[in-house]
Amino acid sequence: MKYSGRKPFKVHAWGIGLLILGGILAVLWLSSLTALAYLPIRPLVGGEGYVIPPMARGQIIRQVELPDSEKAIALTFDDGPTPQLTAPILDILQTYHVPATFFWVGQNVQRFPALVEKAARAGHTLGNHTWHHPTGLLTPFRATQEVESTRRVIYQTIGRKTPWFRPPFGHLHNGLVSYARSQNDTIILWSVDSEDWRVKNFSVAQMVEQVLSNIKPGAIVLFHDGRGSRLLSPTQNLPPIVQALPLILEALHQQGYHFVTVPQLLQLREQTTSRPSASGTSTLFLPPTSPAPHPGG
Ligand SMILES: [Zn+2]
Repeated sequence: MKYSGRKPFKVHAWGIGLLILGGILAVLWLSSLTALAYLPIRPLVGGEGYVIPPMARGQIIRQVELPDSEKAIALTFDDGPTPQLTAPILDILQTYHVPATFFWVGQNVQRFPALVEKAARAGHTLGNHTWHHPTGLLTPFRATQEVESTRRVIYQTIGRKTPWFRPPFGHLHNGLVSYARSQNDTIILWSVDSEDWRVKNFSVAQMVEQVLSNIKPGAIVLFHDGRGSRLLSPTQNLPPIVQALPLILEALHQQGYHFVTVPQLLQLREQTTSRPSASGTSTLFLPPTSPAPHPGG
């Protein structure tokens, strides 16, 4: 008799213990997606490229309107980092003293942290391009995971919490962009596609011409430093983008263009807002219309 009263208590205690344990695990899981993953214990690498100008917060931006006299453009590279493409591209950018913006895939960031750190130390800005580069409609849960796991791995590598998001393929309506905007991220699309994703019937000279013929002040140019073999020509030692990039940089430099990161481009936009622009319009981040279906991005 004297033990009969303790058994229910034991069961009760076990139940409470399990509940507490479950609660702790749930909190740990949630915190891995949010605050605790961002405790200030990480290395801090790179410049001041992770603060959004207030007017750009939550916006979708394809290009930035600048006066014709302000010949600044931003080069962007998607889908890396990869040793085959990112490493030579970083070397070229260093040679020409050109800062750029990389929209990287989380699983590649995790795989090649040395490249990530090198890019950040060189002053390039790193953006979020999801973990898996998914296609199709995503549940809110998966969209959150894709964005936050990538933000977290970039933070764990360079100590910066990036607010710049580019959706794979430029898709605006599959759940990713609505989630990123709910977090006040800025969505960065592009106004000039280098079409470096083309594999057949597209020469290096055509790639150069494709960029040069479409460029204008405030342009955001799309290149790729990932998704591997698609960008590697089987008949050439150097990937097409690696051949084209120096030619593009030299030609644009001769035309008087200078190169900035995406956040620097937005800052230029802010600084020139009070001045009248050449076209007479005073605002322009282009509106959030959906781009045509497109293999780029
Ligand atoms: Zn992509």
